[in-house]
Amino acid sequence: MSYPGWMLLRVARRIPRTESEGPGARYALWVQGCSIRCEGCCNPEMFSDRGGEEVDVAALAREVLDEPGLEGLSILGGEPFEQAGPLAELASLVREGGLSVMVFSGFVREELEARADPHALALLAAADLLADGPFVASQPGSRWRWLGSQNQRMHFLSERYTPEDARFYGDNTVDIRLVDGRLEISGWAPAVKCLGIERLRRRG
Ligand code: SF4
Repeated sequence: MSYPGWMLLRVARRIPRTESEGPGARYALWVQGCSIRCEGCCNPEMFSDRGGEEVDVAALAREVLDEPGLEGLSILGGEPFEQAGPLAELASLVREGGLSVMVFSGFVREELEARADPHALALLAAADLLADGPFVASQPGSRWRWLGSQNQRMHFLSERYTPEDARFYGDNTVDIRLVDGRLEISGWAPAVKCLGIERLRRRG
């Protein structure tokens, strides 16, 4: 499959396969830059919009679709809707390739829809799942797997998933994989922090 390459996305981190960032095996993509800055955020190194690396969206879509056996792509942050244009393009390409798309945002759905920003609406239209709302440290825990605080909600934006899917409930998990001699950690962020593994990962 070939795509025109013309959009750049600022990426903080990416893991080609995890089973701890959404339903099934997924490519996990953390974007760089978030102006929301929740107290207790697990990814403060992703606040600045000048960190990370710029990645061509078409090349990234190919990378995701070339990974065997994936169910979908999960987009985390940072704040995805602060790069909604290139992410809408990425999500569309990935969905055209047959994978599902899940987006985690610190903004609530109603706020995103009220903006009437065509890029934000395009990203919502290209997503199957939206986990929304800022992280509120005083309200830890969630009925939904993968979410961090009680205020956050899961929106089923397409018919691909339903709330009856048992995978959306139950214990959170952490994936630890050894890839080319490096530990790749993903999954429930508080557990990753408690284990001190995040520090280990950053040392590379
Ligand atoms: S929206 Fe997400 S990335 Fe941004 S500060 Fe809150 S928890 Fe951190």
